[in-house]
Amino acid sequence: MNVMEIFETMEYGPAPEAAAPGLAWIKEHEPFGLYINNQWVKPASGQYIESINPATGKQLTKVAAANGADVDVAVAAARTAYETWGKTPGHVRARYMYAIARHIQKHSRLLAVLESLDNGKPIRETRDIDIPLVARHFYYYAGWAQLMESQLRDYQPVGVVGQIIPWNFPLLMLAWKIAPALAMGNTVVLKPARYTSLTALKFAEIMQEIDLPPGVVNILTGEASQVGEALVRHPDVNKIAFTGSTDVGRSIRRTTAGSGKKLSLELGGKSPFIVFDDADLDSVVEGVVDAIWFNQGQVCCAGSRLLVQENIANRLIEKLRVRMEHLRIGNPLDKAVDIGAIVSPGQLKEIQRLVNQGVEEGAVMWQPSWACPIEGYFFPPTLFTNVSPATTIAQVEIFGPVLVSMTFRTPAEAVELANNTRYGLAASVWSDNINLALDVAPKLKAGSVWINCTNLFDASSGFGGYRESGFGREGGKEGLYEYVRPKWETQETPLEALHIAKNSTSSNGSEPNEDEDGETAFQDLAFGSSNGHLATLPAIDRTPKMFIGGKQARPDSGYSRDIYDPQGHMIGQVGEGNRKDIRNAVEAAHAASGWAVGTTHNRAQILYYIAENLSIREDEFARRIVQQTGRPYADAVSEVQVSISRLFSYAAWADKFEGVVHRPPIRGAVLAMPEAIGVMAIACPEEYPLLGFISLVAPAIAMGNTLVVVPSQQSPLSATDCYQVLETSDLPNGVVNVVTGASDTLSQVLADHDDVDAMWYFGSAEGCKNVELASAGNMKRTWVNYGHPRNWLDPVQGEGEEFLRESTQVKNIWIPYGE
Ligand code: NAD
Ligand code: MN
Repeated sequence: MNVMEIFETMEYGPAPEAAAPGLAWIKEHEPFGLYINNQWVKPASGQYIESINPATGKQLTKVAAANGADVDVAVAAARTAYETWGKTPGHVRARYMYAIARHIQKHSRLLAVLESLDNGKPIRETRDIDIPLVARHFYYYAGWAQLMESQLRDYQPVGVVGQIIPWNFPLLMLAWKIAPALAMGNTVVLKPARYTSLTALKFAEIMQEIDLPPGVVNILTGEASQVGEALVRHPDVNKIAFTGSTDVGRSIRRTTAGSGKKLSLELGGKSPFIVFDDADLDSVVEGVVDAIWFNQGQVCCAGSRLLVQENIANRLIEKLRVRMEHLRIGNPLDKAVDIGAIVSPGQLKEIQRLVNQGVEEGAVMWQPSWACPIEGYFFPPTLFTNVSPATTIAQVEIFGPVLVSMTFRTPAEAVELANNTRYGLAASVWSDNINLALDVAPKLKAGSVWINCTNLFDASSGFGGYRESGFGREGGKEGLYEYVRPKWETQETPLEALHIAKNSTSSNGSEPNEDEDGETAFQDLAFGSSNGHLATLPAIDRTPKMFIGGKQARPDSGYSRDIYDPQGHMIGQVGEGNRKDIRNAVEAAHAASGWAVGTTHNRAQILYYIAENLSIREDEFARRIVQQTGRPYADAVSEVQVSISRLFSYAAWADKFEGVVHRPPIRGAVLAMPEAIGVMAIACPEEYPLLGFISLVAPAIAMGNTLVVVPSQQSPLSATDCYQVLETSDLPNGVVNVVTGASDTLSQVLADHDDVDAMWYFGSAEGCKNVELASAGNMKRTWVNYGHPRNWLDPVQGEGEEFLRESTQVKNIWIPYGE
């Protein structure tokens, strides 16, 4: 195209970035090795897999195919390195990370070219978005390395971390994983995605340049079935951090269940892009381009469901079509190209398959009139209208440049439609009415909400999903907690089951009450007060029921369970809960969801009130503990007192565990708000019948969750006594539901339950494993103790921010401003 033609058509001429430096770098490094212990080594298998340029379909090079033997060597190197790196002062780690950031910048153009060649994404994106963000992450986390000793003084690194990343943002995902891991003193074995290894290999070279100690970062290219799975199963890996599809995430959850490996999963999405009728439609159109045609739509948080207010839908769709006609697709290295190539022929086929299915299901498909290049793997931007919300294309992640649109009438309908997905990664809200936008944002089940913007990322602001989009956060301070564990936690591997045998007697168990005379404490309880004249009457039978929806409920089974004291005397009976009781309790907990939107002041007041009412009955509760456990009275009193103090702690925290305002490099702010997770299931520890219950229930309700609680199986009477306290403390019905019975059986039902959003389990190693396994069904968040008892009396182990973090998920709301 000559200059005259350009003037006439106002078209851009091609402006290609040279591929030569990238290709030359590849030639210089062939054959590529695996990067282990700062050495380039040949893969044990002797095999190589081809790496293609998706814009041409031609082979770029071959990379080494690691297998399990290489994984063993790399993990061993990372373990050895950890011995030193884990103790290296934060300032020293910060210096290395600062050097990494500087070197990323020095090689930025080469990295951008390599990324475009290997992945097919436009150079405009790799140059202006991917690579600058990579550098930003290393700068940002160099800062946290520096600050770890002062800001995370109660934490230590996790150890050796296995990291598995997808192909859609190859180097950026590497940065999201490696930067926080190194900052917190961990060492890493990372597996890039099969199709996009090159920038990770260039990154390894940067590690060499800056003289990072050997073994701190190891990079293994290869197939998922060889490298990924071996890493996930490796017994000497302390944590797996994964980004990829929900299916693979689910299988990793199952594989690691019970192993004690920490796990964070960043999975798929089907994010809504909501447009209200007062939005600026020209901005909306550009927003849609960034939402779904950025990176060819291969973005986990892509705004792939356009939800438009009905009265403007036609106008917006018309504008969109005009804009789509002007999108430019082609050579990713052309700086004037908007849309590059799809990463692989398999992915291209999958997109085509889903698009065909959309047409078959009756939706109306529209594509621009221009044709895609014939060479390479290209797919045109595609818009579906007339889509009904239950169809495949409205529910399934397409992971391509395909937008489905639907309409709504009212804000409430918009929220309902937006949340009508099993995912919860991100959402965009477009409106010129800030009141409306800020009202809608908290109602969306998504980890990131962008107001009048979309697909913005920054190291300062956490990113991650709700529901089946996974758990854990990357970015921000919250991202650090994925790479640390409390200092008091010494054991790294799960214990064998902690069996608290029924009727086990402690040495002083036969003396339940040292400071009172005779038999006593529990007899007083069973047979009325000890003031003399009542003692001769038979006791009035007192049968604790279950507590569901604010009512005392008989067990569905019609069976009761006998409860014994340590000497084997029966001291009471509780309901034998079953599946049906759990179902009712979960329903009641859902019905109480208003608890989360009430004021934090109100929640604090109620927690104080529970403490007040418990303290009135201190003696009774202490005696109940003595009766169930055979522990000395004084000991039991202190358990009650610690419980009261703990209620005060969470009453205090209720209105103080707040979010922060991030200042990413945009004009605007990001509100990071901890939100309740939703309906949580809690299986209480066997020990400390009252304190175990209170220590878990109080933080969870302080943060706005509603609960189904299974108390200690052997000693449930303190928890069942508690519901009388709850009833008199203005706790709304259904916020806390208590189901007694066989703890592990009930836990299993809860872990399997699709309407439970998170589960805590404090019991046997075996039980922990079962809970983690079952949680994969709906990807509920879990928190388990792998059979390690906690010292509940110790405020460091028994209370604090760890409990609050496990009770919340952070939502980041992006609010750009300025006229
Ligand atoms: P994928 O799940 O197939 O693969 C991701 C990574 O896991 C790759 O490195 C792959 O080799 C490896 N892997 C595959 N099977 C494995 C197994 N059984 N054990 C261990 N490792 C295994 O996903 P993909 O096709 O590479 O990427 C696309 C998906 O990733 C999309 O669903 C997208 O939503 C998701 N994604 C999510 C995020 C996020 O931050 N939430 C970011 C990017 C992509
Ligand atoms: Mn490639």
